[in-house]
Amino acid sequence: MDDAACRIGARRLNVLIIGAGQAATQAAQLLRRRGFEGSISILGDEGLPPYQRPPLSKAFLKGQMEEQRLLFKPESFYEAQDIETHLLSHVEQIDTANKRVTCADDSRYSYDKLIVCTGSSPIRIPVPGSDLEGVFVLRGLDDARTIRTTLDEPRQVVVIGGGYVGLEAASAARQMNHVVTVIERLPKLLSRVTSPVVSDFYADYHRSQGVEVRLETGVSEILGDDHATGVRLDSGEEIAADVVVVGIGVRPNDELAASAGIDCDDGILVDPMTCQTSDGSVYAAGDCARQRLADGTTLRLESVHNALVQADKVAANILGHEAPPYDPPWFWSDQYDVKIQTVGLFNDYDDLLIRGNVDDAKFSVFYLKNGTLIAIDSVNDPKPFMAGKKILKSGVSVTRAQLEDPDVSLKDLALR
Ligand code: NAP
Repeated sequence: MDDAACRIGARRLNVLIIGAGQAATQAAQLLRRRGFEGSISILGDEGLPPYQRPPLSKAFLKGQMEEQRLLFKPESFYEAQDIETHLLSHVEQIDTANKRVTCADDSRYSYDKLIVCTGSSPIRIPVPGSDLEGVFVLRGLDDARTIRTTLDEPRQVVVIGGGYVGLEAASAARQMNHVVTVIERLPKLLSRVTSPVVSDFYADYHRSQGVEVRLETGVSEILGDDHATGVRLDSGEEIAADVVVVGIGVRPNDELAASAGIDCDDGILVDPMTCQTSDGSVYAAGDCARQRLADGTTLRLESVHNALVQADKVAANILGHEAPPYDPPWFWSDQYDVKIQTVGLFNDYDDLLIRGNVDDAKFSVFYLKNGTLIAIDSVNDPKPFMAGKKILKSGVSVTRAQLEDPDVSLKDLALR
């Protein structure tokens, strides 16, 4: 077959997508937008058409956003685009030999190309009392609906975990005037995603809003008979609570792929350019996917942007197009009136510098490794973030002296 025939063949394949989150919806949309003529089916195990998760711990939790506004697209969009959505369809098995999946209700779907977008699940806290009423995780719409209803009355809220979920939930609850305590096991908040300077800023900011922030302590028990009444810290101290929100991280949902014989290691292992798994007809994208990098390490990212980028790579590969160019990872979080926007991965930094004023809650932190800019955290300071996206994308070199000099425009550096 010549190239053109191959491309036309690729356009008429049968694509099946497991999951109905950001990566799944984006892959389906991109395929159609780029002229894919084959069938596309999305199997989602929740009851609502594909919806956005970021507002669940922000505006939705505060009652400032209606459910319909969470939807990526109205139902009519999928019909118009000839994208079949099968809701309440929980896939139980992938049969890679026969290219078919089986759902819990015994329905079966065949595929030429399968995209696994199963996302991640919250880690449950392994302590006595974790199954009491009043103890919640915050991941899906059902979780957010229940917590939102619970917060209709004055509450004493304990948030376990000082990551984005915990801090956004704490911020929402505090803005609704609840009594809020955050408990974080590590010495700093947001340790996995930022440096001590930003962690300390957030600890101070939450405290200034009336949240009690307890660091370097775990929880040994959630107290109560049927309903939570408090938590016991490792020190033995008890804190009263009638609502406990647990945000202690997520695990990738890779069991389905692993049991089909697809290589997994804390995530479904994928090629970083194509998102193909160890089975060439199966792709994975989003929170569930772990990239095998050229240097032998692996990387799994949990973010909206990563889901969008990986969906793009999958759609390109199915259509026989070139992989999209490098786009540096970015993230954001809204707490109170503070927006943090992050671009790049800060983890290996050996040097940092700050522009702006931390005390004014408007600053950016630049992270360098061996003198090269690798990431930026911008707090209520969107311009460095925007410029940083361009700088990191193009790989244009900027020096420490340029970053340090407030008279040097980052935008100009990005445009070189
Ligand atoms: P996370 O970022 O992993 O943070 C959880 C924190 O809880 C960690 O610092 C963890 O410390 C701590 N922790 C673990 N066990 C604990 C315990 N027993 N007691 C007290 N603290 C404990 O996870 P997350 O905040 O739950 O977020 C889950 C996912 O949702 C992530 O992918 C996150 O990026 C995503 N999300 C993102 C946003 C956003 O981008 N704005 C908003 C909401 C959610 P250890 O490291 O010691 O375990």
